Amino acid sequence: MNKAMIFNIQKFSLHDGPGIRTTVFFKGCPLTCLWCHNPESQAMEQEMLYDREKCVMCGMCAKVCPQKAITDVNNSMVTDLEKCDFCGECVIYCIPGAREIAGREYTIDEVVKEVLKDRIFYEESGGGVTLSGGEPLVHIDFVEQLLKRLKEEGLNTAVDTCGAVPFEYLERVAEHTDIFLYDLKLVDDEKHQAFTSASNKGIIDNLEKLTEIHGNVHLRIPIIDGVNTETSFIEETLDLIEGLNITEVHLLPYHSIARHKYKKLGREYEDALMKVPTSETMNRFRAMLADKGYNVKKEENREGLH
Ligand code: SF4
Ligand code: SF4
Repeated sequence: MNKAMIFNIQKFSLHDGPGIRTTVFFKGCPLTCLWCHNPESQAMEQEMLYDREKCVMCGMCAKVCPQKAITDVNNSMVTDLEKCDFCGECVIYCIPGAREIAGREYTIDEVVKEVLKDRIFYEESGGGVTLSGGEPLVHIDFVEQLLKRLKEEGLNTAVDTCGAVPFEYLERVAEHTDIFLYDLKLVDDEKHQAFTSASNKGIIDNLEKLTEIHGNVHLRIPIIDGVNTETSFIEETLDLIEGLNITEVHLLPYHSIARHKYKKLGREYEDALMKVPTSETMNRFRAMLADKGYNVKKEENREGLH
């Protein structure tokens, strides 16, 4: 059966396309952007999150774990992931909610059933369903089938993509996708490699080709002080997209609320280089794009940034 690893199905999302939407977050991404707000989205596999600040060291998780995978190391409950089979017992018995498993496999039927619960809100608000991540298109067979089913149900569909996938994947889903939310992070390839661990050559190539076969591509640009707030970045972006059929540009200001998630995953958050952009920067970038005739949206309150 076709299944995919999903870490969240977010209801009442207002920032992933028009109207009220349900956003389905897939696990697995070809990029590792330094500023990623969903670090649990990057790995394809399930992960264990542990919040030491919520943990009261009752030891219940270790007691109920059938694999004996949890031990107290220096007053912190450490999980041996070699032993853990993600049965979820420790999460159930952790009363303060210090433990959480990121990701579980869903079938297409399960996702469709879940998103259809909010059909009334989509209809009243002009909303629909957005597939995001991570990178949803790394689950291409599942996503293609899911989008077909959503269209059969008459729902508006959006795909939020980093573009770092074979172009054939974008082609396969294009006819079942009403809106592409296409990320552009940096134009300079060296910087792109340094901050995301991958080249942007294929991403830019795919963007150009996608705008030739699809009429509703929204460009999403994360704005991070210390990474891409030089005026030259927007100038390079304007050069790059000149003549492309881009229907909207979304500017997404960086914020640092993801720090706690890195901590829960036991990962470092390398945020020393990154700062929240000033309103002046956001307004200037918006004006530069609007001056060239682009329909620009600033998404100040959006939680996810990737
Ligand atoms: S998910 Fe299951 S196996 Fe893994 S640590 Fe928790 S109780 Fe143990
Ligand atoms: S059950 Fe929860 S609160 Fe208790 S020790 Fe384990 S993680 Fe901490």
